[in-house]
Amino acid sequence: MNLVIFGPPGAGKGTQSAKLVKEFNLFQLSTGDLLREEVSKKNDFGNKIEEIMKSGGLVSDEIINNLIENKISNPEYKNRIIFDGFPRNLDQAKSLDNLLKKYNQQISLALNLKVDNQILVKRITGRVTCSVCNKTFNIFFDPPKTCDLKDCGQRKLITRSDDNEDTIVKRLKTYDEKTFPVLDYYLKKGIMKNIDGMQDINAISDQLFTIIGAVRSWLWLLDSYNRIFSKIKFLIYGSYSWSKYSSK
Ligand code: ADP
Ligand code: ADP
Ligand code: ZN
Repeated sequence: MNLVIFGPPGAGKGTQSAKLVKEFNLFQLSTGDLLREEVSKKNDFGNKIEEIMKSGGLVSDEIINNLIENKISNPEYKNRIIFDGFPRNLDQAKSLDNLLKKYNQQISLALNLKVDNQILVKRITGRVTCSVCNKTFNIFFDPPKTCDLKDCGQRKLITRSDDNEDTIVKRLKTYDEKTFPVLDYYLKKGIMKNIDGMQDINAISDQLFTIIGAVRSWLWLLDSYNRIFSKIKFLIYGSYSWSKYSSK
């Protein structure tokens, strides 16, 4: 199944996605990470992206859709993608549906992490990421001493250039204006689930595991039913047309 993890900057989308990847063998598609990869190339294209990210605005839909199609078209990731930080506006949500349709897929679940603004600011200003293993920590809430040395013995901690107080205010405004309306889009499709993102990291992931487990079982049942039903249909109509044909 493909799912979207939703929430304002600093809500814990990346942290929870990493846990879901391990638990359910999913593939995390973070548009923020893909953009940072482009920025690290230090060419004209990357520099332009960096400027937009530092301003707290959104990178153009065209750039984002190109980055996304590259991944969705890869058969290795088929029906096992967590979209993290995407879609960020209504047009992106519609493009995502069209793109998935093109590759015979869909979104089955949208998870929304709800967190109050003052907590978001503290989470973002305290965020540090290991540039070697990409694991994220928080100097206030999840100190880096817990870095799993089996995964990474190097632990080079960096702070994102857009994680400063000025840019945060703008990013939260962009979220309210452009991204928040996307929630309604998934609500109307009946696939939205709200989660209290103020709980501690493990309490949230336990809740997510239960929700995803239940949706997965339901999809599996639906799929089995469809397969059995089409077999029965084939047996009835297939043999009927055969008997008509053979009696001529
Ligand atoms: P997002 O991807 O939504 O921007 P992150 O997953 O990077 O958010 O989390 C933002 C920061 O908050 C990180 O430093 C992370 O360690 C911390 N964090 C994430 N979830 C929680 C939580 N439930 N409680 C406290 N801190 C958290
Ligand atoms: P966070 O969730 O913590 O705000 P991300 O890593 O998802 O951070 O995004 C960082 C920045 O990258 C955003 O503020 C925005 O400028 C840009 N960005 C990421 N994803 C998208 C997207 N889907 N569309 C447009 N811009 C994006
Ligand atoms: Zn590390």
